Amino acid sequence: MRIILLGPPGAGKGTQAQLISKRFGMPHISTGDILREAIKNKKPVGLKAKTYMEKGELVPDEVMNKIVTLRLKESDCDMGFILDGYPRTKTQALKLDEALSQIRQKIEFVFYFETSSEIIIERLSGRRICKNCHAVYHIKNMPSRHANVCDKCAGTLYQRPDDKKETIKNRLEIYTQQTKPLIDYYQKQSKLTKVNGDLAAEKLFEVLLEIFAGRKSE
Ligand SMILES: [Zn+2]
Repeated sequence: MRIILLGPPGAGKGTQAQLISKRFGMPHISTGDILREAIKNKKPVGLKAKTYMEKGELVPDEVMNKIVTLRLKESDCDMGFILDGYPRTKTQALKLDEALSQIRQKIEFVFYFETSSEIIIERLSGRRICKNCHAVYHIKNMPSRHANVCDKCAGTLYQRPDDKKETIKNRLEIYTQQTKPLIDYYQKQSKLTKVNGDLAAEKLFEVLLEIFAGRKSE
């Protein structure tokens, strides 16, 4: 299965991607992770992306296209993948389709996570991440045992600069503007399914499984 998860930051795409990945043994390709990795390794492409991310802006298309296309050619993607955070624009979607058609593949499922902005702000502004092992916590929903200390490795927890309240609002606005044409694009191809991103993770995963089951038997 080749799956795209669409929805604003904080809609729960990452969690669902991990659940699908575990269940079906397909890689979860998060552009956030790939980018952060590139920044950590001080790759030119990563440093370029960094300045945009810190302002809550999108990384330019040509940079993202390059990173993702290379990743999809790795052998663990042969049986499918879950894309989370890409494509974000129609230009990226066209590039992706082009790259996939070269290897005789296509996207099968596109899910749009409809999520209320109050829930998004609550989820994101409470998020804390371990500097050392990148484990994710939430000050209310999934707190660490000791404040600001990672349960797994005792590393220090921090808030990503783009998870601050003011930046979140900016990210949401940009997201809505930029993804409208993208949503239309997949809707026209009858690939888009809207799901409720306000649901708890386990509930939403059940919904996704039902959709997979229904489509598979067609
Ligand atoms: Zn840790």
